[in-house]
Amino acid sequence: AKAAGKNCVRSSGEALDRAVDRRARLAGDLPAAIAGGGLSLVFQPVVGVQEHRIVGLEALVRWHHPEFGDVPPDEFIGLAEDDGLVVPLQRWVLRVATTALAPLLAEGHDLRLGVNISIRHLQAGCLATDVARALAESGTAPHRLILEITESVLMGAGDGMENDLDTLRAMGCGVALDDFGKGYSSLARLARLPVRVLKMDRAFVAHIDDDPRAAALVASVVQLGRTLGMDVVAEGVETPGQLAALRRIGCGYLQGFLLGRPVPADRLPLLLAGFRPG
Ligand code: C2E
Ligand code: CA
Ligand code: CA
Ligand code: CA
Repeated sequence: AKAAGKNCVRSSGEALDRAVDRRARLAGDLPAAIAGGGLSLVFQPVVGVQEHRIVGLEALVRWHHPEFGDVPPDEFIGLAEDDGLVVPLQRWVLRVATTALAPLLAEGHDLRLGVNISIRHLQAGCLATDVARALAESGTAPHRLILEITESVLMGAGDGMENDLDTLRAMGCGVALDDFGKGYSSLARLARLPVRVLKMDRAFVAHIDDDPRAAALVASVVQLGRTLGMDVVAEGVETPGQLAALRRIGCGYLQGFLLGRPVPADRLPLLLAGFRPG
């Protein structure tokens, strides 16, 4: 037992070493990935129930590391935030995402583009300028862009940050509250936020067709959105049962693997041409 215990300590020590090593390697390689390839974007459709079509695309960043393979965005965005790399990373995302959208708009597709924003970019104070530049360089109208921001960012936003969001909203950009329901919300605060889209976290959707309380909760979020004049997007729709329940409840917008997995930009024309709502 004693030997096993020792082994345990040693192997967890090794696991820790490996984690620290991986982190250091990733942090070391990230600047080059941002500057010169290694990153890519995929786009996941957002479907409008009334519109009966794809109304939006969410840009999701990917990093294929030569040694570690695909690194999850939650992992390397955290690294970028800790290492002061968020601004160049987000500038890259904004530029590449708006550049990918431009030809689709030119072909007559009526689409919004969702881009995930980091709190560090807001705190850096250059979010509005960076967004404006990406829009101008790609010739994209501001109302096409929706900045997806999590609750914790919005709820913790100081005055300076609120000003940057106000600037973006005044430009015509939309703001979506991402992962809604995952964190702590003050309803009073929610009503005052410059938000026009609520993206309901997939934890709500997961049990919508087998737990009546989950369904009731989703229905009340949809009602809340209606009351506040916000569009509600259900995230993480994976099964036909969940889709049917969301339709019954009257949720206006849907996103998830069932409706479409994230795909590279070169697959979007086919996706948009071939989409048939179920
Ligand atoms: P998110 O903004 O909530 O994005 C949705 C995540 O759910 C994506 O994971 C997407 O691939 C995944 N997803 C979509 N449909 C389904 C489904 O039906 N089932 C399940 N299980 N998952 C689904 P991904 O791409 O791994 O991104 C994870 C998170 O990383 C994002 O969560 C977002 O917070 C962050 N992220 C991704 N790209 C960016 C970016 O460019 N900038 C910033 N700051 N954060 C990003
Ligand atoms: Ca998002
Ligand atoms: Ca989300
Ligand atoms: Ca998230």
